[in-house]
Amino acid sequence: MAELKSCPYCHKQAVFIGVHDDEGNYHGRIGCDYENDAWSGLCYALHHEGWGECILCTDGEEQTMGGVLFDTIDEAVDEWNGTPQKEG
Ligand SMILES: [Zn+2]
Repeated sequence: MAELKSCPYCHKQAVFIGVHDDEGNYHGRIGCDYENDAWSGLCYALHHEGWGECILCTDGEEQTMGGVLFDTIDEAVDEWNGTPQKEG
């Protein structure tokens, strides 16, 4: 899996990708049991560890940054790292 850039605000390696179902419910990190048995759909989202130390911090592990869900890990990584999306 591609590496995520560190946070531009707090400069920590605090950003990770969480596994969600189609309704946005958080199930764990990449490689969790739900990802292998995604009975209610599979989406990914960016998270930022921590509570209030950085402006990008989320309230908890289950909260996504910006509330945005991605179809694939690559899309989430590209969005964070700023890589242009491939056509098609
Ligand atoms: Zn940060």
